[in-house]
Amino acid sequence: MHNAALRALGMDGWRYQLLPVPPERFAETARALGSAGFVGANVTIPHKHVALELADTATEAAKAIGAANTLTFSADGAIAAENTDAPGFLTALDVSPRGMTAQVLGAGGSARAVVWALREAGAREVSVWNRTPARAEALASDLGARAVTRPEPAELLVNCTSVGLRQSATEPQGLNPLAVTFDQVGTYSHVVDLVYRTSPTALLVAAQAHGAHTVDGLEILLAQGALSFKLWTGIEPPLQVMRDALRD
Ligand code: NAP
Repeated sequence: MHNAALRALGMDGWRYQLLPVPPERFAETARALGSAGFVGANVTIPHKHVALELADTATEAAKAIGAANTLTFSADGAIAAENTDAPGFLTALDVSPRGMTAQVLGAGGSARAVVWALREAGAREVSVWNRTPARAEALASDLGARAVTRPEPAELLVNCTSVGLRQSATEPQGLNPLAVTFDQVGTYSHVVDLVYRTSPTALLVAAQAHGAHTVDGLEILLAQGALSFKLWTGIEPPLQVMRDALRD
């Protein structure tokens, strides 16, 4: 999607490329990227925490979440860390969460970004359920949410687990690992799934069958990517071009 945006803007000298980096080489590689001509980098699992630690400056969002997904390299060699997963989630959400109740599933890096974003945006109450309850408790106490032992009714449901990445959208048992039934999904008026794939996840299939407003992981991926693009280039990217490239 980044290369499609660069092409559409005629930015011929620019390129977005994949750099697979093993954990033991991450810090040294990231520090060398600026002098190698890179203006920035997206960082994904398992490097998001180390990316924050090695940066010279970091936004309040990245610090509170404890992870960075975007690094920007200045000419003087300084590295700035940002987390665009949190604002990207809020941008993709087609409703303000102010005053809403929210149930978050998962307690990994993306759940931290989503819980922080919901609290910042004024959600009334944020509950966190996770397969491993201790991680939900730790996240909830860090970020001012409430850990629950099973998903509770709320206005908004957000899946921040990786459940759905590989399952078939039509298998009803696809919801089991999320500890919700098909009927329970119908009690949430807004359902968001961070998992990104071109066909809807079992969770989104169930939510749509109940008539809920839904947002899929590709829209969130698009929104966080567009924010990173703007940070690196100073240019507002062509969203529809990026969306078409993603969904193609
Ligand atoms: P992570 O830090 O590895 O966390 C994974 C989470 O999934 C944990 O809560 C884990 O529970 C849970 N989980 C994994 N397998 C499970 C299973 N079989 N049953 C129940 N729970 C299970 O990963 P992450 O960075 O938060 O990412 C989570 C998902 O969001 C991934 O699919 C990722 O691709 C997606 N994501 C999307 C975007 C976007 O822009 N759309 C951005 C970030 C992430 P335990 O704690 O019990 O292991």
